[in-house]
Amino acid sequence: MENCLFCKIAKKEIDSSIVYENDNILIFKDISPKAPVHLLAIPRQHIGSVLEIGKLDSGTVKELFEAIASMAKKFELEEEGFRVVTNTGRDAGQSVDHLHFHIMGKRKFKWPPG
Ligand code: AMP
Ligand code: ZN
Repeated sequence: MENCLFCKIAKKEIDSSIVYENDNILIFKDISPKAPVHLLAIPRQHIGSVLEIGKLDSGTVKELFEAIASMAKKFELEEEGFRVVTNTGRDAGQSVDHLHFHIMGKRKFKWPPG
């Protein structure tokens, strides 16, 4: 996708702080962290949101969640807990239209959200 920020990050046309990558997925640090650990996990393939998850190969979906679990362990989020969030659409505050999962930890979260 032309002009998609996360496609550009996936192609390394824009720098990011990558913590994990393979042929299908990428995990990098959020540029404006909302938690002491705040990572973004994306498929390299452009899809707009979780509404289009069926377009991804099932192996890629599995890799994405396995890498999320692996990074949660690497960043030592297991014991205290962490959030995995995908904002979808206007009311949820989605600002980049390329599927991404926020991985956030090392702070307390409210539930239910305000
Ligand atoms: P959302 O608002 O759920 O669509 O999340 C988009 C996220 O992308 C926000 O948390 C931003 O801080 C983050 N973000 C925007 N630009 C960059 C960038 N160049 N590198 C890393 N994260 C970014
Ligand atoms: Zn994209």
